[in-house]
Amino acid sequence: MHDFIIVGGGILGMSTAMQLKQAYPDRRMLLLEKEAGPARHQTGHNSGVIHAGVYYTPGSLKARFCLAGNRATVEFCQAHDIPYDTCGKLLVATNELEMERMKALWERTEANGLEREWLSSEALAEREPNITGVGGIFVPSSGIVDYAAVTRAMAAEFESMGGEIRYGCEVTGLEERSQEVVVKSRDGEFTGRYLVTCSGLMADRVIRLLGQDPGFTICPFRGEYYRLPAKHNAIVNHLIYPIPDPSMPFLGVHLTRMIDGSVTVGPNAVLAFKREGYRKRDVSLPDLAQMFTNPGILKVLARNLRPGLVEMKNSLYKRGYLELVRKYCPSLTVEDLEPYPAGVRAQAVSRDGKLVDDFLFVNTRRTLNVGNAPSPAATSAIPIGAHIVEQVKAMVEG
Ligand SMILES: Cc1cc2nc3c(=O)[nH]c(=O)nc-3n(C[C@H](O)[C@H](O)[C@H](O)COP(=O)(O)OP(=O)(O)OC[C@H]3O[C@@H](n4cnc5c(N)ncnc54)[C@H](O)[C@@H]3O)c2cc1C
Repeated sequence: MHDFIIVGGGILGMSTAMQLKQAYPDRRMLLLEKEAGPARHQTGHNSGVIHAGVYYTPGSLKARFCLAGNRATVEFCQAHDIPYDTCGKLLVATNELEMERMKALWERTEANGLEREWLSSEALAEREPNITGVGGIFVPSSGIVDYAAVTRAMAAEFESMGGEIRYGCEVTGLEERSQEVVVKSRDGEFTGRYLVTCSGLMADRVIRLLGQDPGFTICPFRGEYYRLPAKHNAIVNHLIYPIPDPSMPFLGVHLTRMIDGSVTVGPNAVLAFKREGYRKRDVSLPDLAQMFTNPGILKVLARNLRPGLVEMKNSLYKRGYLELVRKYCPSLTVEDLEPYPAGVRAQAVSRDGKLVDDFLFVNTRRTLNVGNAPSPAATSAIPIGAHIVEQVKAMVEG
């Protein structure tokens, strides 16, 4: 019998496991991950940005955890010798409409307590000679890191304190009883007093294994990237972001300096035909059937038909994709867009057809389940783990 079982070896599962073991060093803990190693899904396929907290609704979990997570991630990297770079980020407006939207973002950065600087087009050109725009906001606390490296360090901490990790162990059944939770897997059965699940793209399915209706369905959105050739590694000094359309949930195609020195362009946001499908041609009939019979997802698709089709067109037509980035970096050409692996985002959609905006948790008497944890959840992983530990403590002591 284990005291705590954690499902999911992405950054949220590992952060939670590490902090739970720090809180309860003498308790037996087991983490189960279906893949052969940590960070094989969202955590290992993202932009690697340590977000500052620009966009999020003031007072939301995203706003609070991102701000705290920005500092906590940097401290964790310093303590574990993980390379990171607080290179700062520039939001760039390219026309009057974006300028208006940028003013609203300026207010939001104020409400979210961020240090930032308003840049005229001249100041922008001085900071970034290859970027054009009518103005910008500079946010110094944004940075970059390899989240897979952070997750591996968290796993090592957990194991060094006596925590056990089993890779290649897919959880296939869950049963919550009055005194324990039974976890069925392809490797046999495990019993824990309490269970935490952080299962990313499978979050709704894992919650359903408990016999619970999660109240949402995960809709997978592919995020496709290109990498610039090495000769462009110094094309920008900071992370360059467009001003997002406030009606869209994603941030728009950006230029991201990666921690290995390369620069990526992306990600877009295209409906994925398979939850863990990283290639354009990946299709899962069960995943498709679930999506296209789900009233919430159908409403989202109907409401976003036009932008969704434009994203699909740009996914298939490289020149369309290029135009998104040429708006603010006009010197790039189609030859500059080299292949780079895609990621798939887990976005919860509510029954009434809304993209769930904030982080969401679903609790039962002995289980705590992460339901919605899209970006900036990698940045926020340490505060999210701390939040879960507080809730587990209340369960244990209550
Ligand atoms: C394209 C893209 C770009 C992003 N950019 C950023 C960024 O720059 N900054 C940022 O902060 N965030 C970013 N994010 C978001 C961030 O990557 C995620 O929010 C974060 O990684 C979520 O972590 P997780 O542990 O919840 O999920 P995951 O990393 O997906 O981990 C879930 C794990 O659960 C396992 N699992 C699922 N079901 C089972 C089961 N039945 N049994 C056992 N194991 C199971 C999976 O195999 C997986 O390893 C981005 C995401 C994407 C996709």
